[in-house]
Amino acid sequence: MSEAASQAVQSTIRELVDANHILFDQGVVDGFGHVSARHPGRPDRFLLARSMAPALVTERDVLEFDSEGAPVEKGGPAAYLERFIHSEIYRKRPDVHAVVHSHSPSVVPFGVVAAAKLRPMFHMCGFLGGATPVFEIRDFAGDGSDLLISSKQLGAALAQSLGQGPAVLMRGHGSTVVGSNLRQAVFRAVYTEVGARLQTEAMRLGPVTYLTEEETIATTNTIGTQIDRSWLLWLKAAERRSMVS
Ligand SMILES: [Zn+2]
Repeated sequence: MSEAASQAVQSTIRELVDANHILFDQGVVDGFGHVSARHPGRPDRFLLARSMAPALVTERDVLEFDSEGAPVEKGGPAAYLERFIHSEIYRKRPDVHAVVHSHSPSVVPFGVVAAAKLRPMFHMCGFLGGATPVFEIRDFAGDGSDLLISSKQLGAALAQSLGQGPAVLMRGHGSTVVGSNLRQAVFRAVYTEVGARLQTEAMRLGPVTYLTEEETIATTNTIGTQIDRSWLLWLKAAERRSMVS
Protein backbone atom coordinates (compact mmCIF):
# COMPACT_ATOMS: atom_id res chain seq x y z
CA MET A 1 0.00 0.00 0.00
CA SER A 2 1.34 3.46 -0.90
CA GLU A 3 1.93 5.98 1.87
CA ALA A 4 -1.05 8.10 0.73
CA ALA A 5 -3.33 5.03 0.74
CA SER A 6 -2.17 4.01 4.18
CA GLN A 7 -2.75 7.55 5.47
CA ALA A 8 -6.28 7.50 4.04
CA VAL A 9 -7.00 4.28 5.95
CA GLN A 10 -5.53 5.72 9.15
CA SER A 11 -7.61 8.87 8.89
CA THR A 12 -10.80 6.88 8.22
CA ILE A 13 -10.06 4.72 11.28
CA ARG A 14 -9.49 7.86 13.38
CA GLU A 15 -12.81 9.35 12.23
CA LEU A 16 -14.58 6.03 12.81
CA VAL A 17 -13.35 6.01 16.42
CA ASP A 18 -14.64 9.59 16.82
CA ALA A 19 -18.00 8.53 15.31
CA ASN A 20 -18.29 5.72 17.88
CA HIS A 21 -17.69 8.14 20.76
CA ILE A 22 -20.04 10.83 19.39
CA LEU A 23 -22.89 8.36 18.88
CA PHE A 24 -22.59 7.26 22.51
CA ASP A 25 -22.29 10.80 23.83
CA GLN A 26 -25.36 11.88 21.83
CA GLY A 27 -27.44 8.97 23.15
CA VAL A 28 -27.80 7.13 19.84
CA VAL A 29 -25.93 3.99 20.95
CA ASP A 30 -25.44 2.52 24.43
CA GLY A 31 -23.61 -0.76 25.08
CA PHE A 32 -25.04 -1.90 21.74
CA GLY A 33 -25.16 -0.48 18.23
CA HIS A 34 -22.30 0.05 15.77
CA VAL A 35 -20.97 2.30 13.04
CA SER A 36 -18.83 1.38 10.02
CA ALA A 37 -17.04 3.10 7.14
CA ARG A 38 -16.38 1.78 3.66
CA HIS A 39 -12.64 1.12 3.19
CA PRO A 40 -11.17 4.17 1.37
CA GLY A 41 -8.89 2.11 -0.87
CA ARG A 42 -10.82 -1.17 -1.21
CA PRO A 43 -14.49 -0.35 -1.90
CA ASP A 44 -15.46 -4.03 -1.47
CA ARG A 45 -14.32 -3.89 2.17
CA PHE A 46 -15.34 -1.95 5.25
CA LEU A 47 -13.98 -0.96 8.66
CA LEU A 48 -15.88 -1.78 11.86
CA ALA A 49 -14.84 -2.21 15.50
CA ARG A 50 -14.62 -5.63 17.11
CA SER A 51 -17.63 -6.63 19.22
CA MET A 52 -17.61 -4.11 22.07
CA ALA A 53 -19.35 -1.02 23.47
CA PRO A 54 -18.90 1.91 21.03
CA ALA A 55 -17.83 4.36 23.76
CA LEU A 56 -14.77 2.21 24.49
CA VAL A 57 -13.55 1.74 20.90
CA THR A 58 -9.96 2.77 20.13
CA GLU A 59 -8.03 2.66 16.84
CA ARG A 60 -6.62 -0.73 17.83
CA ASP A 61 -10.12 -2.21 17.96
CA VAL A 62 -11.03 -1.44 14.33
CA LEU A 63 -11.07 -4.48 12.02
CA GLU A 64 -11.29 -4.83 8.23
CA PHE A 65 -14.15 -6.91 6.81
CA ASP A 66 -14.72 -8.34 3.33
CA SER A 67 -17.89 -8.13 1.26
CA GLU A 68 -19.23 -11.32 2.90
CA GLY A 69 -19.02 -9.71 6.34
CA ALA A 70 -16.02 -11.86 7.34
CA PRO A 71 -12.97 -10.35 9.08
CA VAL A 72 -10.06 -10.16 6.60
CA GLU A 73 -7.63 -11.32 9.29
CA LYS A 74 -8.64 -14.74 10.53
CA GLY A 75 -8.45 -15.79 14.16
CA GLY A 76 -8.92 -12.26 15.49
CA PRO A 77 -11.30 -11.00 18.19
CA ALA A 78 -15.06 -11.61 18.08
CA ALA A 79 -17.02 -9.56 15.53
CA TYR A 80 -20.48 -8.01 15.96
CA LEU A 81 -23.27 -10.55 15.29
CA GLU A 82 -25.04 -7.97 13.11
CA ARG A 83 -22.09 -7.10 10.84
CA PHE A 84 -24.19 -8.33 7.87
CA ILE A 85 -26.22 -5.11 8.11
CA HIS A 86 -23.09 -3.33 6.96
CA SER A 87 -21.78 -5.82 4.38
CA GLU A 88 -25.08 -6.15 2.56
CA ILE A 89 -25.82 -2.41 2.48
CA TYR A 90 -22.34 -1.67 1.09
CA ARG A 91 -22.91 -4.35 -1.55
CA LYS A 92 -26.26 -2.93 -2.63
CA ARG A 93 -25.55 0.80 -2.32
CA PRO A 94 -22.30 2.02 -3.96
CA ASP A 95 -23.23 5.58 -2.88
CA VAL A 96 -23.11 4.62 0.82
CA HIS A 97 -19.78 5.07 2.62
CA ALA A 98 -20.93 4.87 6.24
CA VAL A 99 -23.60 2.92 8.13
CA VAL A 100 -24.95 3.43 11.68
CA HIS A 101 -27.05 0.73 13.34
CA SER A 102 -28.63 1.59 16.69
CA HIS A 103 -31.46 0.90 19.09
CA SER A 104 -31.96 4.64 19.74
CA PRO A 105 -35.07 4.68 21.92
CA SER A 106 -37.33 7.37 20.44
CA VAL A 107 -37.24 5.66 17.04
CA VAL A 108 -38.31 2.18 18.23
CA PRO A 109 -42.05 2.98 18.70
CA PHE A 110 -42.34 3.97 15.03
CA GLY A 111 -41.26 0.46 14.08
CA VAL A 112 -44.05 -1.23 16.04
CA VAL A 113 -47.13 0.98 15.49
CA ALA A 114 -48.19 0.51 11.89
CA ALA A 115 -50.39 3.63 11.90
CA ALA A 116 -47.54 5.90 13.09
CA LYS A 117 -45.08 6.59 10.27
CA LEU A 118 -41.78 8.29 11.00
CA ARG A 119 -41.88 11.35 8.73
CA PRO A 120 -39.98 14.65 8.71
CA MET A 121 -41.84 17.51 10.42
CA PHE A 122 -38.73 19.40 11.59
CA HIS A 123 -36.27 21.13 9.23
CA MET A 124 -33.21 19.31 10.63
CA CYS A 125 -34.77 15.99 9.56
CA GLY A 126 -35.64 16.88 5.96
CA PHE A 127 -33.12 14.23 4.80
CA LEU A 128 -35.63 11.55 5.83
CA GLY A 129 -37.65 12.51 2.72
CA GLY A 130 -40.96 10.66 3.06
CA ALA A 131 -42.16 7.99 5.48
CA THR A 132 -39.28 5.77 6.64
CA PRO A 133 -39.78 2.08 5.67
CA VAL A 134 -40.10 -0.59 8.37
CA PHE A 135 -38.30 -3.92 8.03
CA GLU A 136 -40.40 -6.84 9.31
CA ILE A 137 -38.00 -9.66 10.17
CA ARG A 138 -40.88 -12.19 10.52
CA ASP A 139 -41.27 -12.10 6.74
CA PHE A 140 -37.80 -13.64 6.42
CA ALA A 141 -36.96 -15.39 9.72
CA GLY A 142 -40.41 -16.57 10.91
CA ASP A 143 -42.14 -15.89 14.22
CA GLY A 144 -39.42 -17.12 16.57
CA SER A 145 -36.26 -15.16 15.69
CA ASP A 146 -34.13 -13.11 18.11
CA LEU A 147 -34.75 -10.11 15.78
CA LEU A 148 -31.03 -9.73 15.04
CA ILE A 149 -29.60 -9.43 11.52
CA SER A 150 -27.22 -12.30 12.09
CA SER A 151 -26.89 -13.73 8.55
CA LYS A 152 -26.07 -12.59 5.06
CA GLN A 153 -29.63 -13.43 3.95
CA LEU A 154 -31.20 -11.22 6.62
CA GLY A 155 -28.70 -8.44 5.83
CA ALA A 156 -29.71 -8.61 2.15
CA ALA A 157 -33.42 -8.46 3.09
CA LEU A 158 -32.79 -5.42 5.30
CA ALA A 159 -30.80 -3.70 2.52
CA GLN A 160 -33.72 -4.37 0.17
CA SER A 161 -36.10 -2.73 2.64
CA LEU A 162 -33.77 0.30 2.95
CA GLY A 163 -33.94 0.70 -0.82
CA GLN A 164 -32.37 3.97 -1.99
CA GLY A 165 -33.38 5.83 1.19
CA PRO A 166 -31.37 7.23 4.12
CA ALA A 167 -32.91 5.08 6.89
CA VAL A 168 -34.86 1.93 7.66
CA LEU A 169 -36.66 1.04 10.89
CA MET A 170 -36.43 -2.50 12.24
CA ARG A 171 -39.60 -3.70 13.94
CA GLY A 172 -39.10 -4.32 17.67
CA HIS A 173 -35.37 -3.71 17.38
CA GLY A 174 -34.03 -0.33 16.19
CA SER A 175 -32.96 1.38 13.00
CA THR A 176 -30.19 1.67 10.45
CA VAL A 177 -29.11 4.95 8.86
CA VAL A 178 -26.66 5.44 5.98
CA GLY A 179 -24.61 8.32 4.59
CA SER A 180 -22.16 9.20 1.85
CA ASN A 181 -19.53 9.73 4.57
CA LEU A 182 -19.15 9.19 8.32
CA ARG A 183 -20.08 12.71 9.33
CA GLN A 184 -23.31 12.62 7.33
CA ALA A 185 -24.29 9.18 8.68
CA VAL A 186 -23.66 10.32 12.28
CA PHE A 187 -25.62 13.54 11.69
CA ARG A 188 -28.53 11.56 10.27
CA ALA A 189 -28.48 9.04 13.14
CA VAL A 190 -28.57 11.81 15.76
CA TYR A 191 -31.35 13.72 13.99
CA THR A 192 -33.40 10.59 13.28
CA GLU A 193 -33.54 10.15 17.06
CA VAL A 194 -34.33 13.85 17.63
CA GLY A 195 -36.98 13.86 14.89
CA ALA A 196 -38.68 10.76 16.33
CA ARG A 197 -38.77 12.33 19.78
CA LEU A 198 -40.26 15.59 18.48
CA GLN A 199 -42.79 13.81 16.28
CA THR A 200 -44.02 11.76 19.25
CA GLU A 201 -44.45 14.95 21.29
CA ALA A 202 -46.22 16.75 18.43
CA MET A 203 -48.60 13.81 17.85
CA ARG A 204 -49.71 14.07 21.49
CA LEU A 205 -50.74 17.69 20.91
CA GLY A 206 -52.78 17.10 17.78
CA PRO A 207 -52.63 16.54 14.03
CA VAL A 208 -49.09 17.16 12.77
CA THR A 209 -48.07 19.32 9.82
CA TYR A 210 -45.27 17.48 8.03
CA LEU A 211 -42.72 18.98 5.63
CA THR A 212 -43.76 18.98 1.99
CA GLU A 213 -41.57 17.07 -0.45
CA GLU A 214 -40.17 20.40 -1.68
CA GLU A 215 -39.39 21.44 1.90
CA THR A 216 -37.55 18.18 2.56
CA ILE A 217 -35.34 18.86 -0.47
CA ALA A 218 -34.75 22.55 0.34
CA THR A 219 -33.96 21.92 4.02
CA THR A 220 -31.62 19.05 3.14
CA ASN A 221 -29.72 21.23 0.66
CA THR A 222 -29.25 24.02 3.22
CA ILE A 223 -28.46 21.89 6.29
CA GLY A 224 -26.25 19.54 4.24
CA THR A 225 -23.59 22.24 3.99
CA GLN A 226 -23.53 22.70 7.81
CA ILE A 227 -22.82 19.16 8.99
CA ASP A 228 -19.26 19.92 10.13
CA ARG A 229 -20.60 22.46 12.62
CA SER A 230 -22.44 19.74 14.56
CA TRP A 231 -19.64 17.21 14.12
CA LEU A 232 -16.98 19.49 15.62
CA LEU A 233 -19.22 20.40 18.57
CA TRP A 234 -20.25 16.80 19.24
CA LEU A 235 -16.62 15.66 18.99
CA LYS A 236 -15.52 18.25 21.54
CA ALA A 237 -18.33 17.17 23.89
CA ALA A 238 -17.47 13.49 23.44
CA GLU A 239 -13.76 14.17 24.07
CA ARG A 240 -14.58 16.06 27.26
CA ARG A 241 -16.61 13.13 28.58
CA SER A 242 -14.33 10.51 27.03
CA MET A 243 -14.58 6.96 28.38
CA VAL A 244 -11.17 5.96 26.99
CA SER A 245 -7.77 7.18 28.12
ZN1 LIG B 1 -29.27 -4.35 16.70
